[in-house]
Amino acid sequence: MQIHELTAVETAKAIKEKKFSSVEAVKAGFERISKYEGHVGALITTLEEEALRKASEIDSRLARGEDAGPLAGVPYIVKDNFCTHGIRTTCSSRILENWKPTYNASPVNYMNDAGAILMAKANLDEFAMGSSTENSIIGPTKNPRDLRRVPGGSSGGSAAAVAAGYVPVALGTDTGGSVRQPAAFCGIQGLKPSYGEVSRYGIIAYCSALDQVSPLARSVEDLAVAMEILARADSSDTTCDGYDRPKFSGALSTENLKGCRIGVFAGFEASQMDPDLYGALSKAGDMCREAGAAVEPIDLPIAVKYGVATYYVTALADASSKLGCYDGIRYGTHIDGPTLADMYANTRTASFGEEVRRRIILGTCLLTEGFYQNYYGPALKVRTKMTEEFDGIFEKYDAYLLPTTPSLPYLLGTKETDPNRMYLGDVFTVPISLGGLPGLNLSMGFNGDGLPLSVQIVGPRYGDSKVLGVASVLERMIGRPRVCDPRALGEVA
Ligand code: GLN
Repeated sequence: MQIHELTAVETAKAIKEKKFSSVEAVKAGFERISKYEGHVGALITTLEEEALRKASEIDSRLARGEDAGPLAGVPYIVKDNFCTHGIRTTCSSRILENWKPTYNASPVNYMNDAGAILMAKANLDEFAMGSSTENSIIGPTKNPRDLRRVPGGSSGGSAAAVAAGYVPVALGTDTGGSVRQPAAFCGIQGLKPSYGEVSRYGIIAYCSALDQVSPLARSVEDLAVAMEILARADSSDTTCDGYDRPKFSGALSTENLKGCRIGVFAGFEASQMDPDLYGALSKAGDMCREAGAAVEPIDLPIAVKYGVATYYVTALADASSKLGCYDGIRYGTHIDGPTLADMYANTRTASFGEEVRRRIILGTCLLTEGFYQNYYGPALKVRTKMTEEFDGIFEKYDAYLLPTTPSLPYLLGTKETDPNRMYLGDVFTVPISLGGLPGLNLSMGFNGDGLPLSVQIVGPRYGDSKVLGVASVLERMIGRPRVCDPRALGEVA
């Protein structure tokens, strides 16, 4: 196997055993980047010089026999909404086009302390609002499995980078599906942890009530190791829980699913979603049964019917207040005007893209007298009902299976202009976010046209280990996803 095909754990092991150096691993990543990035467009900023320098530092530390961390010398990438000290952090927005933070986000510090090497900052939908990575200052990212299609979003750059073998592991953020859905579209694994597992300190907020830092990789083991590095209490983020985390990689020793009760979502007819994804869900249920679990159909009537509406009311209201800080004075772009109000309007109109402006306006409206009582208040109540529905399920089941997405990755440019159609694609991911639950996208191979299939495994709040355990059993049965050489399907290789 070549370096770029290895998982993060395999790369760390090989570097430790001196099969190759960290400098070689970083060079292998940049070889992939220089070969394919022109086609994929996954990266906003690359950090080749810094990465090589850090890699050689790690190599020297290892040569001296030091313990340089669990991911010593392993390349990684973060989405460009993670603050990185002295490195441009754009959030894919003109308003932060040239903004350089003065500190690192906590998860970036944790990865660096674990010895991992930051290679680049990945593309996203502006302020993480979107599902296709088409709304960005650098233009759309393309799906490496089929360059004519979207990679999903908003962490589309991170997902594409992992699928294309730039790096074995990347970090994204998932508010309503932004890691699970691009992982599904790019045919890799991605875990949105329970809300409160990972610090959000230094992550540029979209909706603080739901945002969660989430790893993407080509193996469940890598997700578990990333969780061990990322999930810890952080006094800088009061929403990050102080509880003692379990050893997440312990879940990987789950041999089978005997004694495990698994629900499989049966609330949709085959005709209501893509038939191949419907098939992947039933197949995953059969595999759980084969592995010894008691498998039964479940329905989530409240979550599936009201999830999208509840999510968009909650998220847009939160976003309108979070994005108030971009006033043309404290951060980034400033466009003058005759009065202060004109300056605000000029700066914000010129510097936010259409989707972000739409969400700020709707969110502001939702928080005004009258609308608050009619929309925001009821959304909070529905969210409580949804949580009760989830609690009821977990009284009977340890975990359940749900599709990650109702459709396969679609062609670029086809949904961008119709936000409602785009929002409906979040039907299976947003309820899990509203419940604060862990959700893992597991790659289920490919359909007859070569497009990635997937399933979502959901567990109770703080049951991230359970989810990783079920995923690792299924991954052993189906095989872990492989790197691809980016191409357009149908193109001769
Ligand atoms: N697609 C959803 C949205 O646009 C989710 C985005 C996210 O998780 N950041 O809000």
